[in-house]
Amino acid sequence: MSRVLTVQAPAGRRQFGSDNYAGICPEAWSALKKANEGHARGYGDDEWTAQAADLLRELFETKCEVFFVFNGTAANSLALASMCQSYHSILCHENAHVENDECGAPEFFSNGTKVLLLSGENGKITPGAIERTVLKRTDIHYPKPRVVSVTQATELGTVYSVIELKAIWGMCKRFGLRLHMDGARFANAVASLGCAPREITWEAGLDVLSLGGTKNGTAVGDAVIFFNRELASEFDYRCKQAGQLASKMRFLSAPWVGMLQDGAWLRHARHANAMAAYLENAIRKLPEVRIMFPRQANAVFVELPPPVIHGLWDRGWMFYNFIGEGGCRLMCAWDTIEEDVDAFVGDLRSLVLQTKD
Ligand SMILES: *Cc1c(COP(=O)(O)O)cnc(C)c1O
Repeated sequence: MSRVLTVQAPAGRRQFGSDNYAGICPEAWSALKKANEGHARGYGDDEWTAQAADLLRELFETKCEVFFVFNGTAANSLALASMCQSYHSILCHENAHVENDECGAPEFFSNGTKVLLLSGENGKITPGAIERTVLKRTDIHYPKPRVVSVTQATELGTVYSVIELKAIWGMCKRFGLRLHMDGARFANAVASLGCAPREITWEAGLDVLSLGGTKNGTAVGDAVIFFNRELASEFDYRCKQAGQLASKMRFLSAPWVGMLQDGAWLRHARHANAMAAYLENAIRKLPEVRIMFPRQANAVFVELPPPVIHGLWDRGWMFYNFIGEGGCRLMCAWDTIEEDVDAFVGDLRSLVLQTKD
């Protein structure tokens, strides 16, 4: 987090740094509180964990294997490790979290599986890029492509449509590749598309989903969901060996019950997306700024003159300017309100007008 410059931000101010700057949402908090009453068995052998897994099976409308781990890096890297051998390769976008933000964990946990990078507009990979990467070499000296990993919503705040995912799946089938999804912001993607979760997962050929809870409103604990249930074989051992089997598992799983049982997960994601739309709208009215990618989820990427960026930081606003392709990333969370956006845009407007003079 050291690359976010901050100068004395007003304590507790809601920021646009990341959706993980936000606290725990009320639904997750109250489930945690309930889970704290009395005793329950450890290591996931408890009622909360069973209920959370059942609610996820209901949500996805299919039988699937569900595991809870501490964070997204663990979810991604252990899921990917379960999908390939060490001599295989994983194909993902060059901006993918798997490549840039996991400190080599996918390679580490898969004992050296190589990550191959694909470029593509707006943070998305295409069937054509998969084809080129697979066909580039087919000899024994090349790390054999085995898995495609897509991020939904993407690192650049865009969303794959059902049609785009199915086209990727088509290419996967052609080359015998498995399909993984980094769903750190899966909820925002579902809210954006207005689709059923099944339509962008197993109905689009997905084998394994890393489903994020943290950015949606929980404190900790992401889910790994195997639609291809054979791949889940011995995944429990993989989790344990990696230090990802929570002793008091109910505190990872209970918040999921709180999020899922009354639809809070989707409500919060819709709200975060709506705040980003409101922010985008306000920014588009300003001179000297450029929206960089189509805003389809809860992030707005904007190119700002450097003095404006520093001016905002000086006024205590926190946001990253190195994520994705170097613009400023403004991220809305479940608890962002219009007044936060108004205050930020007010400062942005005055700085833009100042630097124009
Ligand atoms: C936040 C995030 C993750 C998970 O990161 P952790 O810090 O390990 O929980 C995974 N993928 C993407 C795209 C993310 O933004």
